[in-house]
Amino acid sequence: MGGFFGVVSKCDAIPDVFFGTDYHSHLGTRRGGMAAYDENIGLQRDIHNIENSPFRTKFENIFDEMTGNSAIGCISDSDPQPLIIRSNLGCYAVATIGIINNAKELIDKFLCSNGGHFGAVMTGGKINTTELVAALISQKPSFAEGITFAQDVIEGTAAIMILTDKNSIIVARDRVGRLPLSIGKNENGYCASFEQFAFKKLGYALEKELGPSEIVEITCDGLTVLEPARKEMKICSFLWTYYGYPTSEFEGVTVEQMRYRNGEIMAKNDLKNGFTDKIDYVGGVPDSGTPHAIGYANKSDIPFARPFIKYTPTWPRSFTPAKQVDRNRIAKMKQIPVHSLIEDKNLLFVDDSIVRGTQLRETVEFLYENGAKSVHMRSACPPIMYGCKYLNFSRNTNDMELITRSTIFELEGEEGFKYIDEYSDSSTKRGKKLRSAICEKLHFASLEFQSLEGVIEAIGLDKSKLCTYCWNGKE
Ligand code: SF4
Repeated sequence: MGGFFGVVSKCDAIPDVFFGTDYHSHLGTRRGGMAAYDENIGLQRDIHNIENSPFRTKFENIFDEMTGNSAIGCISDSDPQPLIIRSNLGCYAVATIGIINNAKELIDKFLCSNGGHFGAVMTGGKINTTELVAALISQKPSFAEGITFAQDVIEGTAAIMILTDKNSIIVARDRVGRLPLSIGKNENGYCASFEQFAFKKLGYALEKELGPSEIVEITCDGLTVLEPARKEMKICSFLWTYYGYPTSEFEGVTVEQMRYRNGEIMAKNDLKNGFTDKIDYVGGVPDSGTPHAIGYANKSDIPFARPFIKYTPTWPRSFTPAKQVDRNRIAKMKQIPVHSLIEDKNLLFVDDSIVRGTQLRETVEFLYENGAKSVHMRSACPPIMYGCKYLNFSRNTNDMELITRSTIFELEGEEGFKYIDEYSDSSTKRGKKLRSAICEKLHFASLEFQSLEGVIEAIGLDKSKLCTYCWNGKE
């Protein structure tokens, strides 16, 4: 994934972009970058590796190094960004969030025809998404036309932020608004951001949430809509269930409260089945499972507890060693048990989702090793049946690595994939089989998933506006 934040101001833009970008650190763990524009100096840029230490510490000298009334910053899980581009549209800095699935075709069709060439590759021959977006934009005589062209030919998702050499920022929400993008305003100018809480905390008020495909230019004096929003929206439902920061709002729906509602709906279903009588404590698999668990506990009247707590002071989230075995060891070292809340207790945990299940199995084993009588699991979203093809989601995985798919394959081979809908549904024979097979694999005493209807109800938007592809395969 990734996130970005930009400011155009009558004052120094660097402090707000520094903190505003830092507030997007939950969206990526690989690269951080900032670019600024100063009339006397021009465009400046700085990029750091943030794999082993957070954005804030890597950019703490930026106040001495960079200056400008307009600046952008980004957190990225893939390409180092922002890039500085010199083209027919002038010199500009650009950052993107998303994924391009037809990169090769686009290069062949638009950039390498007529003897042209495109040299934007990363180490290992991977195409640099941001550079490809910039090259597509440069095919047209204006930013608005170029961005619209890029959005229309890209298969995938591209949210775009451009810092021009005219003291303005141009932002474009992706074609169907899978990712959010908002504009904030204070007395000195405007900002643009993925997460709204980032600018509200910095004293900006929400001015506008961009619609799908909308393109807006901000200067310190105002905003101009360069391209109006289109109607079709498919905002990513996972923003609420997992990766949006809890204090954020998307399309008017607060993430934290959506998660409470989601947990309440799951508890209501368990209450109907008389299941909750046996449970001593409800807990969340930290961190994003916690608010779903609070909702579950509130509705079921089972006390909420934290039977284990992550040791975070010396293990920042961004620390992600390359080897899976090291990642597992660190995950284990972080989990500190509260023995009196585990020993001889029947525990129910809520996790935001179950992708591969590897980590969850370790967590459950750790609880049993510490004396739990039983560990029940609830997933705050429906079974993930399809890998996401729209976002550069860090938990993205090929379909057969999904625990649902691999279990279905073990149960009845390829044939089973014809019955994905049945497997998703807990009331069917296949649905029950899938749940009990996963329970066996991951050592859960019981397992249930939030239903598709349940998660849509908790978000509260019309289902036609939501992307739910990874759960039901509907485009
Ligand atoms: S497929 Fe899933 S993760 Fe990807 S955009 Fe759609 S809802 Fe979000």
